[in-house]
Amino acid sequence: MHSDIQDVLISTEDIQAKCRELGAQLTDEYEGKFPLAVGVLKGALPFMSDLLRNIHTHLEMDFMDISSYGNEMRSSGEVKIEKDLDTKVEGRDILIVEDIIDSGLTLSYLMDLFKYRKANSIKLVTLLDKPEGRTVDIKADMAGFEVPNEFVVGYGLDYQERYRNLSYIGILKPEVYGGNDE
Ligand code: 5GP
Repeated sequence: MHSDIQDVLISTEDIQAKCRELGAQLTDEYEGKFPLAVGVLKGALPFMSDLLRNIHTHLEMDFMDISSYGNEMRSSGEVKIEKDLDTKVEGRDILIVEDIIDSGLTLSYLMDLFKYRKANSIKLVTLLDKPEGRTVDIKADMAGFEVPNEFVVGYGLDYQERYRNLSYIGILKPEVYGGNDE
């Protein structure tokens, strides 16, 4: 375990097992279709990579980079597209792949965007769901794990761009927040 981590909330093994389980469900859902999996950079990258390797249908993948004006631990919902998709959305079955849904503001923005762009269907899969953080009424079609209303890092999720490369989800030691003035 990394020395900045206080507790491991979800282990590497549990995450990998969940990717297999969700992948099997999505394989059934998209049987005979050609969905467009949309990963939201940068946090969704590890989950997207492990999940998609467990979906055994044809699929296309693309990425969006969006920034939201908020503080570093919470989004405000005012979203700016930093990198848009290269792929046309009209008529496509969209699978949004997210690391975590907290307030739901980022996701609600994306759902509206893909509806506006005339997607045929939109599904939302998230590794983590923090239901207590919700400020808009949005629900994932599939969620890997519920987490408490605490700030978590690892497996794509960062604090000041660190810890994304951990293979598990953990909680930082309190002194890490105080002791880093970069
Ligand atoms: P929402 O718009 O649902 O509030 O926020 C989603 C985004 O906020 C996530 O993609 C992530 O970047 C950030 N976020 C929310 N909760 C956490 C958390 O516990 N840890 C980290 N590292 N980021 C979080």
